[in-house]
Amino acid sequence: MYQLAIELPESTLLNMIPDLTKTITYSPIDISQTKPLTKQDSIHAKAHLLKSQYKEEYKNNTIEFLPSQRSNTVCILAVPYRISSFYNYLSNLHSDFIQECLESLVFLRTIEYSKGFYTVILEFLSQTAADNFYLIFNGRDFEEPSNEYCYAFFVSEVLYIKTFEKRDELIELPMCPLCIERLDIHASGITGVLRTEVSSLQSSRWPLVPQSCNVCNDLCKDLTCELVVCEACGEPTEVWICLICGYKGCGRYKEAHSAKHSKISGHMFTVEAISQCVWDYMTDMYVHRILHSGRGCLVLDTNFNQKPKENLERMINEYNHIINLQLEQQREMYEQKIESILINKNAQMHEKIQEAKAENDYLKRKLSKIKALKKKKDTKTIQLEKIREENGVLEEVNKTLKSCTSEQLAVPIFEDKKSQNIYLKLQRLKNELAEAISKLN
Ligand SMILES: [Zn+2]
Ligand SMILES: [Zn+2]
Ligand SMILES: [Zn+2]
Repeated sequence: MYQLAIELPESTLLNMIPDLTKTITYSPIDISQTKPLTKQDSIHAKAHLLKSQYKEEYKNNTIEFLPSQRSNTVCILAVPYRISSFYNYLSNLHSDFIQECLESLVFLRTIEYSKGFYTVILEFLSQTAADNFYLIFNGRDFEEPSNEYCYAFFVSEVLYIKTFEKRDELIELPMCPLCIERLDIHASGITGVLRTEVSSLQSSRWPLVPQSCNVCNDLCKDLTCELVVCEACGEPTEVWICLICGYKGCGRYKEAHSAKHSKISGHMFTVEAISQCVWDYMTDMYVHRILHSGRGCLVLDTNFNQKPKENLERMINEYNHIINLQLEQQREMYEQKIESILINKNAQMHEKIQEAKAENDYLKRKLSKIKALKKKKDTKTIQLEKIREENGVLEEVNKTLKSCTSEQLAVPIFEDKKSQNIYLKLQRLKNELAEAISKLN
């Protein structure tokens, strides 16, 4: 099922609009307690159509059958402004079947934003009424033969918000009826144009849409040969237009601004300006339902429910792109390896150099120590030599002294000759005196 996020303009006070003060989650209504009550209102706000990323539920969607997941709230994506009141339009259809549905209608809200169309939310009292309404209107023309189809879908939740932010678990779909047609049913899940004979000029359908939808406007420009260029780099070829917001970005073989936009905004669908092929960034596949015939015509892609066809040129481009990517990745890998090896080697070298430096310093210190020791040794040798010399002299003196007689040794040595002589004379006289004394005895 789908969610609608209604982005209210800044000027809207939440309490000005009934039932906008809280998020409304639709659940089955207890019929025994609620009486049918038709309420109508209209608000000016931008609606965002969201679907869950789960795709299986859209597998067997066809125009004749009901989707497996439903609620009693049906949304009509776009109603042309020619139909000024949708409620009156329904009443004036004078169909008993529709009258039955209307009797079960609880609420009808019109969301006006674009110039070309408005969106309608209808809540029914019973699931049967909602189912019947869906079966009558989905994929039918509003008025024969206008080629303005009614796209209906069941809504699980309507959120009223001030600012819209992307949510990873939800994919946004285009609100424009022509843009929703561009999408393959497996991508949008919304059934509608399934008649293979349909091939019509874009301008004859929803004539006011190009004024309000940027995408349709740009695709018309392409038909009139006006240039559509990348908003980021000005690239004029291979331009993709975001199907949700109309952003124009170059393709992946240029600077991939379209892919970058998808990543930032979460907008998954983009349409190529010339071929009008639609690409889904989530599945990385073509998901178009209708194609541009090249003669100003839109043609139904009859293979839309098969795997999208890819022409040879695109396959070659794709292949080259993949090869280039892989080569680039390998180059980066090897460059990183070389860099890390160089870093390691450098670190090892640095370590070795540091070690060598430390060793060198140590050796230098040793050398200077050795030098100092050698100097000391030289000084000591000289001192030793002197001592030896002095020793020799002393030994000589010693020898001389040893050879001297005791008498000689007894003679004191005087400083001057005179005293010496006096001493010797005195000594002689002493001896003579001693001799004389002994003679006398
Ligand atoms: Zn559009
Ligand atoms: Zn976008
Ligand atoms: Zn670009």
